[in-house]
Amino acid sequence: MAGRAEIRGTDLHYVSTRGNAPSLSFEEVLLAGLARDGGLYVPGEWPSLGTDEIAALAGLPYADAAARIISPFVGEDIGADELLELLRDAYAGFSHPAVAPLVQIAPDQWLLELFHGPTLAFKDVALQVLARLMSRALVRRSRRVTIVGATSGDTGGAAIEAFRGRDAIDIFILHPKGRVSDVQRKQMTTAVEDNVHNIAVEGTFDDCQALVKAMFNDLELRDRLSLAAVNSINWARIMVQIVYYFTSAVALGAPFRPVSFSVPTGNFGDIFAGYAAARMGLPVQRLVIATNVNDILARALNTGIYESKSVVATSSPSMDIQVSSNFERLIFEMTGRDAGRVRTLMDAFGATGKITFAQEELDQLRVLFSAYRVDENKTALTMNSLLDETGYLADPHTAVGVAAACNEAGKGAPVIALSTAHPAKFPEAVERACSVLPPTPERLSSQLEREERYSVLADDMQRVSAFIIERARATESAGL
Ligand SMILES: *Cc1c(COP(=O)(O)O)cnc(C)c1O
Repeated sequence: MAGRAEIRGTDLHYVSTRGNAPSLSFEEVLLAGLARDGGLYVPGEWPSLGTDEIAALAGLPYADAAARIISPFVGEDIGADELLELLRDAYAGFSHPAVAPLVQIAPDQWLLELFHGPTLAFKDVALQVLARLMSRALVRRSRRVTIVGATSGDTGGAAIEAFRGRDAIDIFILHPKGRVSDVQRKQMTTAVEDNVHNIAVEGTFDDCQALVKAMFNDLELRDRLSLAAVNSINWARIMVQIVYYFTSAVALGAPFRPVSFSVPTGNFGDIFAGYAAARMGLPVQRLVIATNVNDILARALNTGIYESKSVVATSSPSMDIQVSSNFERLIFEMTGRDAGRVRTLMDAFGATGKITFAQEELDQLRVLFSAYRVDENKTALTMNSLLDETGYLADPHTAVGVAAACNEAGKGAPVIALSTAHPAKFPEAVERACSVLPPTPERLSSQLEREERYSVLADDMQRVSAFIIERARATESAGL
């Protein structure tokens, strides 16, 4: 029990990757999102789990394992019983009793299915917990916040599903009008709760994102609305995602043998959670960064140059990203937690759209990470051969992960590819690759028939912020 006392004893605090923001408690980080110096919050030190503690996770219900893994990060901010209760409630709505089950696809290759939540994508795993944690923290502090986010598809639906009906929170999601799929739009716009506001912007996803960024950068507006972020710059999302790296590895023999993970990656949130698991003591042989043709991360790792190019639309749209916000967290670790070096590199990136890493930094990254780019053709071939060989129908994001995982197979450790979306979310791409239409789960088909509600606004900061100010309850008074 000495180990347990150690990780719980000192209250963990969080520091900014840029070193110029105050260190905060868990609950403060949960509500702050981005640090005021433009950096991202990370734990001041990594808690560690001993071999016995990792082994003891075997066979536990998912929520129970989650409580053990998360508790060192939340420290005294939540009692152990309350945390367990909250996690059980968050995962009660999942359609599989294991929450995140493993499926074997080859002698040493596995899929980790993360899409059994209410919107059929892995974002539910973290957002269902995040919404409950935020709501609890706000009620305790008698505060309200306004969540404003832009979505190109999956995040908006998962966030709305998690936050709808929560009294301390209003949620405004901007999507590019006519540029998200019918399924994705309906998953957002059929919520009936008054705290949910969908805005269809007459513009592109980049325009939506620029509007949100401009609102957050307007510090007066940010304070007036108590703006909060639910994208993966929020540490709590990463923290919750650490759990399934542990549970899946333990199911395959950890801590007594190592495992590798292949992670379809966009904003680097999910795979950073895998890195965190390794830092906490999980024996991870390799972490594979799997990208589609939007390959900034694969290029960074393979050439040492992190350089943004224009985004290309693919069949795995949730990974169509050219700036991976969470990569800054890894840069911080890679430089030995040198916030000055992070500032230099991020300033260079802001000015020139390019970072060149030093050879030692690159060597440091390559100790644990590999990266592969998977093009559209390879993605479709992988979906097709997986169906042929195993009868398994995978979505395109998952297929990118599986294609990259093959490069690590046969190297002594089982490879777990993260399966991040249900194939029914991307029926056209699945049908094109496999000539089979994935069956639509009942939960989704009933949602698709409900009435939609959204407002169409011009791509104009003044119009959009006025719309939000008029409706956000956080402006009414400082408290509730
Ligand atoms: C968000 C998302 C990803 C990418 O996750 P990151 O944390 O941004 O790297 C991959 N697949 C699906 C289906 C997603 O929704």
